[in-house]
Amino acid sequence: MAGPVYRRVVIKLSGEYLAGSHGAGIDQPTLDRVASDLIAAQKLGTEIAVVIGGGNMIRGVEVSAKGVSRPTGDTMGMLATVMNCLALEAAIERRGTPARALSAFVMPQICELFTRSATHKYLAEGRIVLLGGGTGNPFFTTDTTAVLRAAEIGAHAVLKATNVDGIYSADPKKDPSAKRFDRLTHSEAIGGGYKVMDATAFALARETSLPIIVFSIAEPGSIGAILSGTGRGTIVAG
Ligand code: UDP
Repeated sequence: MAGPVYRRVVIKLSGEYLAGSHGAGIDQPTLDRVASDLIAAQKLGTEIAVVIGGGNMIRGVEVSAKGVSRPTGDTMGMLATVMNCLALEAAIERRGTPARALSAFVMPQICELFTRSATHKYLAEGRIVLLGGGTGNPFFTTDTTAVLRAAEIGAHAVLKATNVDGIYSADPKKDPSAKRFDRLTHSEAIGGGYKVMDATAFALARETSLPIIVFSIAEPGSIGAILSGTGRGTIVAG
């Protein structure tokens, strides 16, 4: 059997997805399903690091509109991503696969600090690594974090999990004539202004020659399908 398409990847998972149909918080069945999918995908032979968002709890822009400063709101958002990492770490380990949460912030009582060497070590040990705390800086997103961490740890691609099976010219849920792209260059993705990922993330991926695959996580097994080269998604590559 042919091996996976990529040997090491960073998967970007939105916090919002973990809320399931509740809109906020963590939906246990959704969390468990994501954990099982990640484990099945890892069994294909790919080293997996996951960057999780915090949108199911706090987004900096939203709290800053209520009177907290933007940097403080963003810090709250980054802490939310650490909570999601801890939840996913537990869900993966309950299924018998070792995982390890690492944080962009020093928080020794909670989890280890993200470093490249720690990430290399845990991936080599066969753990699924969960990268929390975003970039550690306000005014960034976890999309940008995923590309940054992928470049830092020498990953071969960023897999951006969304609710739709790729990048469309418009929101396919609102506009039935929206065109789906199989492939775009980084510059086309930036120029098109598609809402799926922020321009900073695409620009960093262009600069570091990292492909981004945008795919739907709604289908169970979709991560493994992308890694096997049989999945459906839009590839953004130079
Ligand atoms: N955030 C930040 N810097 C980062 C990453 C995230 O300030 O490097 C904050 C920001 O407030 C953001 C929140 O963390 O709104 C949650 O991340 P994101 O919105 O990317 O989560 P998602 O929408 O993917 O769940």
